[in-house]
Amino acid sequence: MARQLAPPFVKFLGTGGARFVMTRQLRSTGGFWVGYRETFLHVDPGPGALVRCRTSRPPLKPEKLTAVVLSHRHIDHCNDVSVMVEAMTLAGTQRRGAVFCPEDCLTPHSVLFPHVLEFLPTPPVVLRPGQRYEVGDIVLSIPLQHRHPVETYGFIFEIGDVRLAYIADTAFFEDLIPAYRGCDVVILNVTLAQPKSEVQHLSLPEAFELMVNLNARSTLLTHFGMEVLRSKPWTIAQEWTQKTGRTVIAAEDGRYFELRALLGK
Ligand SMILES: [Zn+2]
Repeated sequence: MARQLAPPFVKFLGTGGARFVMTRQLRSTGGFWVGYRETFLHVDPGPGALVRCRTSRPPLKPEKLTAVVLSHRHIDHCNDVSVMVEAMTLAGTQRRGAVFCPEDCLTPHSVLFPHVLEFLPTPPVVLRPGQRYEVGDIVLSIPLQHRHPVETYGFIFEIGDVRLAYIADTAFFEDLIPAYRGCDVVILNVTLAQPKSEVQHLSLPEAFELMVNLNARSTLLTHFGMEVLRSKPWTIAQEWTQKTGRTVIAAEDGRYFELRALLGK
């Protein structure tokens, strides 16, 4: 039987961000999968990631994962990394898969339980800004370090003929614009309704400015904090679509996007 090759896709297992949305699970916090052909990456497996994989329709099978990728060590992004490695390696019975993460996810205090490191064929790959990593059929690159209280990176995924950016947690700064320009689809973590100088997260007005300047065909908003949820991100996405003529969608838990279809390819 011919093997099924996945089209370039993103599937959200969670769209909640920050402490209170996470602890109350107002939105799930399982991160998202990026897939293409037979390569599958689980990005930012926060609390509930494994449960969301198994209960998703159709279920996502962690034993098919190529790698788990962490943008940073905050608990809403990495809580389930050990259990995902357990699942990816069939409880350690198969040494397979990989982990990519910033250095401070490993030292001085690892966010992975020590025993799961032994299940991996190679030690976790330490991410560095400016580097490019070939992971199966997907190329992962890191344009720059974000401004966030811990070492944090966003990613550009080259998936077939689609360039997908993931702008993980960060304060707004001008260098983000050239770093992520030229992508077809941008996933944007929008945690605050209004800018707060003491909190290094993107707010709605900053996300709008970034979106306009990046000028991607499609922007997927996610990682919503409490005030963003109260502001109804789905209506904000509609307003931004009308204002800019670009597609803006507020992601929802469990939502699957086939990227070429999203781009009208
Ligand atoms: Zn964070």
